[in-house]
Amino acid sequence: MVTRRGFLAGLGSAAVVFGFDPVSRRWITEAQAAPFDHVPPLDGELVTDPASLAPYANDAGSIVHNTPNAVLRPGSVRDIQRMIRFCRFRHIKVAVRGQGHTTFGQSQVQGGLVIDMATLNTIHSITNSTADVEAGATWKELVQTAFPLGATPRALTGYINLSIGGTLSVGGTPPNDNRGGGQVDRVRELWVVTGRGHLKHCSKHHNRKLFEAVLAGLGQCGVIVRVVMDMVPAPTSARVFLLNYLDNALFFADLRTLLDRGEFDGVYMLGAPDGMGGWVRQINAIKYHNGTPPDPNVILRDLNLPPEAATIQDQSYLEQVLAVDVVIDFFKSIGLWDGVMHPWFDVWLPGDVTESFVADTLAGLTPEDVGPTGFLLLFPQKRSAFTRPLFKLPNQGEYVYLFDILTAAPAPGPDPVFEAQMLARNRTLFEQARDLGGKRYPIGSLDFSHEDWVEHYGGAWRAFKRAKRRYDPGNILGPGPGIF
Ligand SMILES: Cc1cc2nc3c(=O)[nH]c(=O)nc-3n(C[C@H](O)[C@H](O)[C@H](O)COP(=O)(O)OP(=O)(O)OC[C@H]3O[C@@H](n4cnc5c(N)ncnc54)[C@H](O)[C@@H]3O)c2cc1C
Repeated sequence: MVTRRGFLAGLGSAAVVFGFDPVSRRWITEAQAAPFDHVPPLDGELVTDPASLAPYANDAGSIVHNTPNAVLRPGSVRDIQRMIRFCRFRHIKVAVRGQGHTTFGQSQVQGGLVIDMATLNTIHSITNSTADVEAGATWKELVQTAFPLGATPRALTGYINLSIGGTLSVGGTPPNDNRGGGQVDRVRELWVVTGRGHLKHCSKHHNRKLFEAVLAGLGQCGVIVRVVMDMVPAPTSARVFLLNYLDNALFFADLRTLLDRGEFDGVYMLGAPDGMGGWVRQINAIKYHNGTPPDPNVILRDLNLPPEAATIQDQSYLEQVLAVDVVIDFFKSIGLWDGVMHPWFDVWLPGDVTESFVADTLAGLTPEDVGPTGFLLLFPQKRSAFTRPLFKLPNQGEYVYLFDILTAAPAPGPDPVFEAQMLARNRTLFEQARDLGGKRYPIGSLDFSHEDWVEHYGGAWRAFKRAKRRYDPGNILGPGPGIF
């Protein structure tokens, strides 16, 4: 566990906070002498100097820039409880941050407190069937610790350098599993610090209302601090088949055939411009194994493309689950990630409209809509496997599809014209999808009003509102998405 002294040593010249002046509503550092409310003693650290705050006024979108007044790097769960109580009675808003990889200010707060969960990343235990971890740990940390022990989480996001608490707060949609629901469906137990500062244990059988209010709950009712989740025996290897289509109908026919057969672990689409004004739709079909890879002539039988058309990638399990991390690390190394605007569009589509929605949308997109480092994704998911009330999906179809336009600006830095164009595009596409029964996936960049949120949650809204009143009566948690 990180100690206060350890933090001080690591922080160098960062200013340390001792109190809060309720009149000027400013945090007070060592250097300033005035009567103020003392912050509670902390195991970790609270900082306010501009250099320490600056990274928290940005996220993976580089569009929204809200600067907090202070950042808590907790040294213990108790620190979170103490600071939430402190903030509640002073009406200070609190945003929780995992890795800040949402793209539209979801993890930010203007003038309040950010809790940076990265310091609470202890992995308490791992067995073949469960893991018990602090929520600030990344999936990558968990995978790398668990793999040598022969275990892994079954459902992983494409990029895994994301915090466990962060993806459980948005839902967590795995490209490597079409049939098991979201990452939230693999959670057995949670420890949560509520907006009252209480530490609560919850599960499907105990404090169920809180459990269901924080899974895919965008940090509105509590801070997830510890998670017990399902694990499975880790396979050693993966064989990935890539099949490229220029024709929308042929692509969807083969995608549906593969989903119906259910012989792959995960099947999804990666899309990119074809260089001739159209789009390549690439089936990525993943099969895990322990030394006997699947025969392409069997597993790719009777598709529109022959098995010989497939590119085959044989990888170790770790190579496969870390493949996107390698790409993002490369973009970072060439200066095309940090500070680059990412106005992402992310929407869930009902199965019966997905083929036409994708065809119509692609017909209207240009290569600038993805940019030099962007791409399209389509993740099919079996709808019945999603069981958490706040993970909102279309209510029809055996399969629903998460469709993403992962736009990247051509270079780092602000570009107000590009930003306005992309936000307008996202809103137009969202409204088209919504009118067909679609739902937003709340990781992207979308202007969304309170009324939009009420409509988004539909039948779940009243229970969510009741939970908010009960667990965060001061309405201090999670200002970023603008829900309450
Ligand atoms: C390259 C890339 C690939 C991705 N691939 C996928 C994918 O395959 N599937 C998928 O589903 N998503 C994917 N995502 C999106 C990702 O799941 C979300 O952006 C997720 O929120 C990121 O986790 P984070 O730790 O950065 O969360 P943050 O952005 O820090 O936080 C997200 C939200 O959760 C809240 N929050 C964070 N931690 C906690 C906590 N402990 N308790 C309560 N609330 C909390 C925040 O306040 C915020 O509202 C991808 C993102 C990137 C950048």
